Amino acid sequence: MSETTEQAIRAEAIELLLREKGLVSEAQIDGIIQQYNARTGPLNGAYLVARAWADAAFKAALLQDGTRAMEPFNFSGGEVQKLVVKENTPQTHNLVVCTLCSCYPWAVLGLPPRWYKDPAYRSRVVKEPRKVLGEFGVNLPDSSLVKVWDSSAEIRYMVLPQRPSGSEGMSEAELAELVTRDSMIGVELLD
Ligand code: FE
Repeated sequence: MSETTEQAIRAEAIELLLREKGLVSEAQIDGIIQQYNARTGPLNGAYLVARAWADAAFKAALLQDGTRAMEPFNFSGGEVQKLVVKENTPQTHNLVVCTLCSCYPWAVLGLPPRWYKDPAYRSRVVKEPRKVLGEFGVNLPDSSLVKVWDSSAEIRYMVLPQRPSGSEGMSEAELAELVTRDSMIGVELLD
């Protein structure tokens, strides 16, 4: 049995027990999932990225101190003690993982995708990042440097993807629509 399946069964058992004891209701649990999936989603992150592409001063502030730069927006949802944003450039590609468990910046990216929690992704991405990237359809030139950032309960990483060509003159709202969740984890290139 894979670790993921064991974890899923365990989570289901805990949920059932909490519900039976009347500690939480199904509606509360659904509400939390709904908040991160539908309301938070990766939209907050996309907004930060679009803003950074459009405004050099904001970009500098975001890269210097992500936590402080996102403070004024009051994104709901904890799970981000400290946000660190890493910028992709033609020379450097950044990639995010949590090798220990599944730490992820919920407030800016919503719920982590299933594969992010997969033990295979978590261990392989450190050992063979280019191969894993290739499986996601990201093929980088040999000259580019790949940096893997290991998230923790204290530090949550997010990638600032490269601005796609042909996006000159777009509004921030239009730019935000170009940004995908996977590009902010570092497993997708926008073009
Ligand atoms: Fe974790």
